[in-house]
Amino acid sequence: MTMRTERVAVIGAGLSGLYAAFLLQRRGIHDYLVFEARKTLGGRILSLPATAHGNADRVDLGPTWFWPDMQPQLGNLIHDLGITSFEQHQAGDMMIERSHGEPPVRLRGYATAPVSMRLAGGMATLTDTLAAALNAKSILAGEAVRSLRCTGSKVEVRSENLAGTVTTTWVDHVLLALPPRLIEANLSFEPALPRALAQQWRSTNTWMAPHAKYVATYPFAFWRQSGLSGEARSACGPLGEIHDACMERGGAALFGFFGLPASVRRNATEDVLRRHCRAQLARLFGPDAATPKAEFIKDWASDPHTATTLDIEGAAQHALPAANAPLGSWNGRLTGIASEWSQQFPGYIAGAIDAAYRGVEALTLHDRSTSSHGRKWPI
Ligand SMILES: Cc1cc2nc3c(=O)[nH]c(=O)nc-3n(C[C@H](O)[C@H](O)[C@H](O)COP(=O)(O)OP(=O)(O)OC[C@H]3O[C@@H](n4cnc5c(N)ncnc54)[C@H](O)[C@@H]3O)c2cc1C
Repeated sequence: MTMRTERVAVIGAGLSGLYAAFLLQRRGIHDYLVFEARKTLGGRILSLPATAHGNADRVDLGPTWFWPDMQPQLGNLIHDLGITSFEQHQAGDMMIERSHGEPPVRLRGYATAPVSMRLAGGMATLTDTLAAALNAKSILAGEAVRSLRCTGSKVEVRSENLAGTVTTTWVDHVLLALPPRLIEANLSFEPALPRALAQQWRSTNTWMAPHAKYVATYPFAFWRQSGLSGEARSACGPLGEIHDACMERGGAALFGFFGLPASVRRNATEDVLRRHCRAQLARLFGPDAATPKAEFIKDWASDPHTATTLDIEGAAQHALPAANAPLGSWNGRLTGIASEWSQQFPGYIAGAIDAAYRGVEALTLHDRSTSSHGRKWPI
């Protein structure tokens, strides 16, 4: 077993963890480590290349939209990082499928306000840009945290990499950049978390964890040529809500959220799901939709780095912010910074930015007021 010493451990390299590391570095704090269980960074943000050998077009299998008018902190960050954004395509009629055996109905579409915005290159442009600004040696991908032990002034973080090597890292503070429910299910704490806190974390829904997305790419956006927006709602499924997902460089695509619950999806093979999705898109948008260039499915409910059994069984309602029950002997050593900890936008991308910002602020203030070695956190 190897041993390390750092000032801060960030658990999770989704948006909140990467943004927290970015802020730490900006404040001159370089002795931190980000632990990420997956081999890849970004967490619930996942943009995959639309073609095997192509341009920079990517399809979003996690989040797609943000709303800068309502979420100025996120909007400003995207602007300051120099990332290009563009409006969700909404022009044209929409399709509605009300029941089996009844043909879909074409209705006049409507524009949502405020407008939903997307990122050029997919939402992962945001996490890629943040990750590129970090010291690569401070990010440990494929290294899952298993347990935390508090000795009073220090926290012992035990992590395990993909080869099964266990490492101990001693830190002053831990930023929890993963959903509270996942922490409660997968990490062990010594001393144990206060019972009320553990119960609150377990009952905090992880936003979108029960959901799955299907994306189909096409040679051209044939629906737009017929005056359709690409938007549809269906009571027949397998997709419940469908949108245009064309990329800014011109790649044509549609995406949908499955309406089938996770417990039903898990009993179907991906081939069967794809076949039903193609048939549904052809019913809604015509025969061209039956022959996509490529198809993608991402079922978040079956991803153990996002969902627990509670997400598979539970309802998919929106997350309420994780409550702040007393931390007991962990007080001053742990801060929750994943999106679910945001009071303003719990579960959203903007929430991950808000919670990470507040977590780093609190951490630097705490350290300045309690520093025993006379060293101050730079701001
Ligand atoms: C299908 C879908 C659609 C969405 N659509 C939108 C949208 O349009 N707009 C919007 O604002 N939001 C949307 N969201 C929500 C958005 O994706 C999240 O709010 C945001 O990505 C959360 O970031 P996070 O860093 O808080 O958590 P996460 O992205 O979940 O990051 C947690 C990280 O911790 C890692 N981890 C887990 N366990 C361990 C461990 N033991 N040790 C180390 N690392 C660990 C995980 O692998 C992950 O990388 C959507 C989500 C999904 C799934």
